[in-house]
Parts: sequence; C-alpha cells; structure tokens
Amino acid sequence: MPQLIDLSMAVSSQMPVYPGDPEPRMEKVFSIPRDAVNVSSFSMTTHFSTHIDAPYHVLNGGKKLDEYPLEKFTGNGVLLDVRGQFPIRKADPEKIQKDDIVLFYTGQVNKIPDGEYFKLAPFISAELAEKIAERRPKMIGIDSFSPDPEPFEVHKILLKNDILIIENLAGLERLLGKKFDIMAFPLKMSSDGAPARVVAAVK
Ligand SMILES: [Zn+2]
Repeated sequence: MPQLIDLSMAVSSQMPVYPGDPEPRMEKVFSIPRDAVNVSSFSMTTHFSTHIDAPYHVLNGGKKLDEYPLEKFTGNGVLLDVRGQFPIRKADPEKIQKDDIVLFYTGQVNKIPDGEYFKLAPFISAELAEKIAERRPKMIGIDSFSPDPEPFEVHKILLKNDILIIENLAGLERLLGKKFDIMAFPLKMSSDGAPARVVAAVK
C-alpha cells in the first residue's frame, strides 16, 4: 500500500466561505440518548471546502460532474511550486504530460488562521492558463479559493478545454520532492461542483 497524503480541507463550519456565498449549516437532528441514533443535517454550496468545479460552473450547457468517468479524477500528479507569485505567470508547463493532474502550490491556504485567506490572492494569469491547457492535463488544483477572480477567464480557458479545477486544497508542502498519483473523487452529483476527498499516493 503506498503512503497516502490527505490534501483535503475538513467539511466543517470552521472552513472559510467564499465571499457572498451562504454559510454552511450543520446541525444534529437526532441525538443519542434522546433518540435511537445520532443523525446530522447539513447544507452548503457545491463550492465549499475542498471541491471540484465542472464546466457547467461557468459555461451554461457545459458538462456536470456525473458525466465524467472515474478515470478523469485520478492520474499522475505534478506539483508546481509557485509560492510568492502575484499573479502566477511562471510555472514550467513543459513538466506537464497529457492526462496529468497539476497542482499549484501557492501557500495561500496558510493564511486561513489569520482570516486573510481572501486577501492578496495568487491568481493564475490567462497566458499561463492557455499554456497549461495546451498540455492537456485532466485537472488542475490549487491551495487557494480560486485560480482567478471574476469574470473567471482562467476558469473558462480550463473548463472549456475539459480540464477540471480542484479548489481549496491543503498541505501541498508535503508533496515537495515526491513523485505521486492523485485520487480526487467528487460526490456523484449532477452539478456544477461537488466536495471531493483529494489524496496523493506517493510512488
Ligand atoms: Zn468552485
């Protein structure tokens, strides 16, 4: 069994909510010993915590997550260390082979404890996104809340090329210097996005 590294945020109300989105709500509806079982109810957007964006998120008529085979969500991982770039313009697209899963390590996630997650974000330039798209990866991921701001040009470049986007990754520093595969299976939902447990399997 390979070493597995969890790259997912928790699904908890402690995690940051994208500005303007409704807050997640989690509550206990049945509790032992009053009831026979413990049962919880939660509501959240399809883009809360670690999740995957489908083309339908920004392209009306685009594909939804349940339209992809499982193979779309697993593959060879490539880590791009882009810390300190605002915006991200340089990232060695030559390192990317067709069907890789490309992770942008920005370190932005480390700003959560200070409440600065949505400030001074490391967005990916449209020029770099075009170069990445030419390499035909299956997905890209980032340890930040979004690869770009409104009007989401980078989202559109990637998603119209059928390259899915994993947002709100965590712990990418543990992949430095390692070879690994990525497994990132979203919930089986006919939707614009869905939470995913994202795991690196070290080779
Ligand atoms: Zn999203």
